Order: sequence, then C-alpha cells, then structure tokens
Amino acid sequence: MKCSCEQSLKLELRTVKYARSVTIRHVPVLVCNQCLTYELIPTMRSDLKKYVELLGPRPKQTTFSMKDYHELADVIYGVLADAACPNEGLDAKIEHEIQERINLLLDMYRLAESMNDDGWISDIRQRLSQLSVILPEMNVFHADV
Ligand SMILES: [Zn+2]
Repeated sequence: MKCSCEQSLKLELRTVKYARSVTIRHVPVLVCNQCLTYELIPTMRSDLKKYVELLGPRPKQTTFSMKDYHELADVIYGVLADAACPNEGLDAKIEHEIQERINLLLDMYRLAESMNDDGWISDIRQRLSQLSVILPEMNVFHADV
C-alpha cells in the first residue's frame, strides 16, 4: 500500500485520541515518513469504537492499550519491545511474527474444533480476523526491497 506521494507506508504503533475523551495507546497505523502523516488501517476504526464502547458511557478509565485487545497491536508491540531486534529489517520481522501468530492460532483452532469448544473457536476466529486485516497490505513490506 502506498501513500498519495508514492512513498511506501510503514506499520507503526501510535497513540490515538478518540472522541477527545479517550486515549488509546499502541494503535497499529500506516505511516508515511515523507508526508509525516499516518492513517488507520481499514477496519481499525470500528475496532477502536468497539473497545471505547466497552468502557461504558462514563468511563472511570479513559486510556487503554490496543495490545491488550488486538492481536495485530500485540504482535507489533512484541517486535518493537524486543531490544535485541535492530531497527533494520523491522518490517520483515513484523511480517514474520504476524505469520507465526497466524500459524499458532490455526493450530489452536484445529485443537478447539476437535474439542468442539464453541467459545474458544469463536475467540480464535476473532483473533484471526484481527490479523487478517493487514494481509491485503502486506506488500507494504516488500515495496522497498
Ligand atoms: Zn506520503
């Protein structure tokens, strides 16, 4: 995926203000280093809305981290938090970790299915859908190579 300036967009985590009152940390966004702008990944907006609504009409807590709710945020956070990981090759590392997580979830899915555990199955389905939102954008990672 490319910016309107033709620069490749990069996956990063940003803090996003939602409806002025809620601060959401570790939101996966697509960043253009040239224009210094970022945009939300398609479908992320509805996810943010969903988790903000979970806070209730008058939330005591007005800040939370997407990594606690969203597989993609969790995977990126894990890669960025890994101090041994050099800045170079970060995109490939993130892509690799996303694929690893998908494989892990698919294994869990097969296990849950064999146990006929409907609650677990739907939980894994939701996690997989959170990761699959980025798959159409994956060519981001190969654009500069
Ligand atoms: Zn741009």
